[in-house]
This record gives sequence, structure tokens and C-alpha cells, in this order.
Amino acid sequence: MLLVGNGTLITRNADAPFYADGAVAIDGRTIAAVGALDDLRAAYPQAEFIDAKGGVIMPAFINMHEHIYSAMARGMSVKGYNPHGFLDILDGMWWTLDRNLDHESTWLSAMVTYIDCIKNGVTTIFDHHASFGKIRGSLFRIEDAAKQAGIRSCLCYEISDRDGQDKCDAAIQENVDFINHARADDSDMIAGMMGMHASFTLSDRTLETCASVLPPDTGYHIHVAEGIEDLYDCLEQHGKRIIDRLMDFDMLGRQTMCAHCIYINDHEMEVLKHTDTMVVHNPESNMGNACGCPPTMELYHKGILTGLGTDGYTHDMTESYKVANILHKHHLHNAQAAWSEVPDMLFHNNAVMANRYFKQELGVLRAGAAADVIVLDYNPITPMDETNCNGHILFGMTGRSVTTTIAAGKVLMRDRVLTGLDEEKILSDSRQCAQKLWNRINSGR
Ligand SMILES: [Zn+2]
Repeated sequence: MLLVGNGTLITRNADAPFYADGAVAIDGRTIAAVGALDDLRAAYPQAEFIDAKGGVIMPAFINMHEHIYSAMARGMSVKGYNPHGFLDILDGMWWTLDRNLDHESTWLSAMVTYIDCIKNGVTTIFDHHASFGKIRGSLFRIEDAAKQAGIRSCLCYEISDRDGQDKCDAAIQENVDFINHARADDSDMIAGMMGMHASFTLSDRTLETCASVLPPDTGYHIHVAEGIEDLYDCLEQHGKRIIDRLMDFDMLGRQTMCAHCIYINDHEMEVLKHTDTMVVHNPESNMGNACGCPPTMELYHKGILTGLGTDGYTHDMTESYKVANILHKHHLHNAQAAWSEVPDMLFHNNAVMANRYFKQELGVLRAGAAADVIVLDYNPITPMDETNCNGHILFGMTGRSVTTTIAAGKVLMRDRVLTGLDEEKILSDSRQCAQKLWNRINSGR
């Protein structure tokens, strides 16, 4: 047993949200009890003690939209890359990168991303993978890294017609194989979805095939109307809007997650709501690509289940929190906007969404829930309680405030030292691999 204590405890359990001197008792992969430190010390005298050193103890973060494959792009310079618009960014940077990924670079991309997740207190991710250089088996390589790192992962491969029929078929098969593999795994640490790039790179034939081979109890993870080009293409090629197109292929529903949804109208929002489809917002990515600001506050207030991701831009969920908070204030010219909606997306909706794929309750510290717990180095300069702790997180903490990360009861980082991974070797291998990859990309241009 483990006992995490000697800190301020934020539980996200409405019945007992806050303990000034709290503790979490962990038995195996599950939380056994939450309460005052003195009470839990008395109840579990034999438990190994993890000292929060006066910091903050809270549920680990969940990232609903990640791109492990983007890792090797950090600092990369592609010869001749001078994008004019979002499609140039995709083709010149991201598709160029993923066409050159092999299994080794995919695996290392996953390992370094998982290391960053652990350091930022993220223990559950929903990843959207592409490696058109080596498709078959790629999700299994990421799963291998996920298991070594100890991060709960829902994986999918980005199906697209952009590289021809054979690669598209291979991508569909990779999803089906991985989903079936994950369904047979009872660890509750791995899951699979059917990944699709975006409407404008998917033919009707491909959508039909995907719908016909989708295994039961799963859905799609797809980019929707991230750029306005995606909407124009759908209107021109198919005479309908994107959400309607997905609806016509029976692809919406409570297991499906649409990333971005920047250019959707009221009718499409009604369809998302009616089908209980999930939406994930990635503020930094949308701003960085100059794609526009999604109607996230409207989606949230209509009751569409909306969560928060990073789109690979960062692995620190507090960055998404901070930027979403100011993006919607700025966009709506309303300094009152987003105060409550964004933390609700991050601390509540992300867990509800993740629990559509993982069985054990996530995102809350209470008996029976998954033992995904983090400790942050934070000493408040003003009083902190359950009514204002989100303000303290927003303005006082970052991902790198996290000192200890526990996932499914396993200590992945303790006092800022990774417990199960050789960080120096992985990073050194990653740098070498990235240099080779960059050389490969630029020698062909
Ligand atoms: Zn994305």
C-alpha cells in the first residue's frame, strides 16, 4: 500500500472536495481511501509514505488529443518550407515528417512524449498517430512504449487517402487489428479507436469501408473543420457540411470524438448534441496554425461533451488551460468568459470522455477510483480552498510544478526522478534518431 500525504488535497469529488492536510491511500491500482492525513495514517500504519512536502495532491491530468508522431519535429527545419495557409503547414511539415517515420522513430517519439507526460503529471492520453513511412505495426510499437512508461493510452492510426489506396487500406487494417488487440487486453491501460485524418482527405469509399469494418463498442477519432478548407472541400465535393457527412456514414455517437470543430454551424452543433458525440478543443494548436477560434463556449453551453487536448503542441495540460482561458476571453471580447467552463472541461469532462474507453473511474480521488495521483510543488501566496483552487492552478502552477506522478498505483516519478525509465539514454537515442530523420527528409528535397 501507498499513502500520499502531507499536502493540500484537491479531490474533484463534490462530496468532499478539499482537505487542508489530506492524504490518499492506494491499494494496488485503486484508491482505497481519501481523507485527513492523521485518520489515514492511523488506518494504514504499514503503508509506504510518499511525502507531498506541503505541496498539492490532486488527480493526474488527462489529455484528450495528442500526437506522439510530432515529437521529432521539435527544432526541425525542412528545406524550402514556407507555408501559406494551413494546407501548406500540413503537407510541408506534418505529412513530410510522418512519411519518413519508421518503427524506431515512432517508438522513440512515443517514449520521449511519455516522459514529458509523466513530468507534466499526465497519466492518460488519447493519441492520434500517423507514420505513413511504416504503417503496419506502428500502434503496437506505441503500445510497447506506453506499457514501459506506465501511461494509460487510447491509440488510433490516422486513415487518409492522401498517400494512395494501399496505404489507406493498411491504415484501416492497423486500426482494426489494434482495436481488437486492445479489446482483448484486460489491463484497462490500453484502448483503441478508429483514427481518421479529416473529411478533405477521406473519400466516400474509404468512409464506407471504415464503417463496415468498425469493431463494436468503439468509435472514431477525427479532425473536423480544423481549417476552413476542410469545410469548403466538403461543400464542393459532397454538397454537405462535415458533421452531416459523418452522420450520413453513421460515424457519430458517444464513442466518437471530433477534434477542433472550428467551422461548424448551429445545425451541426445540434447533431453533435443529439448523437452525444465528443468534441476536443486544442487552443494553442488552433492559434499556432492560425486556423481560427472554435465556438467552444457555445458547444459547452449547448451541453455538447467538450474536453481539452494539446494536439501535440505541448504535453502540459496547464498550458491548454491557461491559453483556452484567455483565447475565449479575447475572441468573445468578454473578460468574464471561460472562467468556469475551461476548468470544467479539463477536470471533469476529460474524465467523463476518457471513461467512455477506460473502465475504472478517472479524474477523481475517491475510494474505488483509479490511483492516478500527482503531487505539485506549490505553496500558495493567498488563501486556497475548494472555491478558488482552480484560480491557484491557473495562475500559480504549471506542468513542471509536478514532482510526483502515480498512474494506476505505480509511481512513475518520485521527487522529479523517473523511477522506471533510463531518461538520459532515451533522450540521447531520440536526438540521434531525429538527426537521421531530418537528414533523410532534407536529402530528398
Ligand atoms: Zn490533431
